Amino acid sequence: MVYLEDVAIDYNGHLVIPFLDLCLEQGEIFVLLGPSGSGKSTLLKGIAGVLPLRAGRLVWNEKPGKVGLVFQEPRLFPHLTVMENLAFGLRAQGMPKRERERRSQAMVDTLQLTGLEGRYPHQLSGGQKQRVALGRVLVLEPDLLLLDEPFSSLDTPLRVELSQWLWKLQRQKGFTVLWVTHLLDEAFMVADRMGVMMNG
Ligand code: ADP
Ligand code: MG
Repeated sequence: MVYLEDVAIDYNGHLVIPFLDLCLEQGEIFVLLGPSGSGKSTLLKGIAGVLPLRAGRLVWNEKPGKVGLVFQEPRLFPHLTVMENLAFGLRAQGMPKRERERRSQAMVDTLQLTGLEGRYPHQLSGGQKQRVALGRVLVLEPDLLLLDEPFSSLDTPLRVELSQWLWKLQRQKGFTVLWVTHLLDEAFMVADRMGVMMNG
């Protein structure tokens, strides 16, 4: 579906990823494991276009797909409600209010946050916040979802529950996922394929 061809990424000339070749299949969950500092986050930022590629390119099967990136910390807008956080990206795209509200409400239900639409981030638990962060990206219907240790800040039972929930959602919707983690149990729970990154 998307081929990362000879990708290299650096910070001011320091090559963190010297050379990477990876093919992601349509609808799969590819888990990328690796120790801290090996370049996993750097790779996701490069794919999402947050960081420039030093070399290489993304080759899409058909037309260029939409990419969504979810970080380890929720990074919600503190002054916006759950609904407003979810609708933010749609609003930025210029989607009319009614359609925006319809899609955000549907996402609230998908996220199992019904009844919490009007809450602000500080009124949510860690797991709820992270679900909103995921929903904010999912509502934009990405073809490729990039997850950077999405549940690592949560305690183990909640992390396992949310990983299972997201796996089921992905099986229903069929978007492609590149899922970064350093946790083996999480990797084995959700992965169709896995890779290990060492020093980029
Ligand atoms: P991982 O996500 O696997 O823990 P990172 O991609 O965050 O690893 O980091 C890979 C390497 O790049 C590390 O050596 C880190 O210190 C370095 N690095 C990360 N971000 C920056 C930055 N903004 N500027 C310079 N070096 C960075
Ligand atoms: Mg990282």
